[in-house]
Amino acid sequence: MADRVVDQLKRPLQDLRISVTDRCNFRCAYCMPAEIFGPDFQFLPKDKVLSFEEIEMVASVFADLGVRKLRLTGGEPLLRRDLPVLIGRLTAIDGIEDIGLTTNGVLLTKQAPLLYEAGLRRLNISLDALNDEVFKKLNGKGISSKTVLKGIDTALETGFEIKVNMVVQKGVNEQEILPMAEYFKELGVPLRFIEFMDVGNSNGWNWERVLTKKQMFGMLTEHFDLEPIDAAYYGEVAKRYRYKGSNAEIGFITSVSESFCSSCTRARISADGKFYTCLFASQGFDVKSLLRANLTYDECKQALKQVWENRNDRYSDERAVKGSPRRNKIEMSYIGG
Ligand code: SAM
Ligand code: SF4
Ligand code: SF4
Repeated sequence: MADRVVDQLKRPLQDLRISVTDRCNFRCAYCMPAEIFGPDFQFLPKDKVLSFEEIEMVASVFADLGVRKLRLTGGEPLLRRDLPVLIGRLTAIDGIEDIGLTTNGVLLTKQAPLLYEAGLRRLNISLDALNDEVFKKLNGKGISSKTVLKGIDTALETGFEIKVNMVVQKGVNEQEILPMAEYFKELGVPLRFIEFMDVGNSNGWNWERVLTKKQMFGMLTEHFDLEPIDAAYYGEVAKRYRYKGSNAEIGFITSVSESFCSSCTRARISADGKFYTCLFASQGFDVKSLLRANLTYDECKQALKQVWENRNDRYSDERAVKGSPRRNKIEMSYIGG
């Protein structure tokens, strides 16, 4: 326990996820179940969402505190109007070395060239099945996997570095693991299998619906020869493997079966400007109010530094021992993953 506490304190602040909207054009049941996020759901009003100026200020302060990587997310980030303008501003911040974006890919065919022109180079694209029937049901909007695959092709042609994220749920899309692996091995795009997580309060999570890394790995090694790849940097979340004899790779995000809280280096800002130190938090620190109260840059920096230094989050470690230990968590579509 003492070692663990020391580990918690050592975690550096390296990357920042910024949610640019809480709205989405999908209703994936594991994230935004349609019965809760229906036509009457109250999304954030425009004046509660951080402006580009405010996002730029927050990102600059975090860069000053050590953040080198930014990831834009949502909701669906490509729904945010004029996103390339924001990307242009963020790429100009001193200290920021890398900007990525996580998207469901639906709007990519249209937007990929403009995003690239603005300076974005890396995309994580979510796709949970190739089979159309399965995928249409999963995304809750009847959208074909072909739409996302077309977006992926356009992004590759545009020059983006891409990873594909697949959330795997037992009894829902596990039969898609092998076809997805085959397809993206062939395309040379890294595929990451994500264990179904108990984010938020509304996705009906339980242990029975979790397919663990070990189980997925077992399915994959019946068909492929895989060898481990060393972590590329401290705090890398994916456990990566290469198909022997090729450069193609896969990865696993094991936050349920093998938690990694002691090396968690990630801060998160919600679309309404709250700073969260954990994906499973209940409460965030209100940065928007600081910005709108005209605090100076240094005052803002000190406040954010203190929040990070006082963090003691280890939700996934606790889940391994106690089950799902907290009820009132923020929703995934609000914080962005
Ligand atoms: N809308 C974009 C997308 O889907 O890529 C960005 C936001 S989404 C919340 C970010 C990532 O979280 C996606 O890869 C999504 O599949 C993943 N995700 C959402 N809910 C999840 C859950 N309950 N367990 C595991 N991953 C989840
Ligand atoms: Fe939307 Fe992404 Fe959540 Fe699916 S996972 S509902 S695409 S925010
Ligand atoms: Fe980081 Fe919280 Fe996830 Fe642990 S549970 S790895 S502290 S975000």
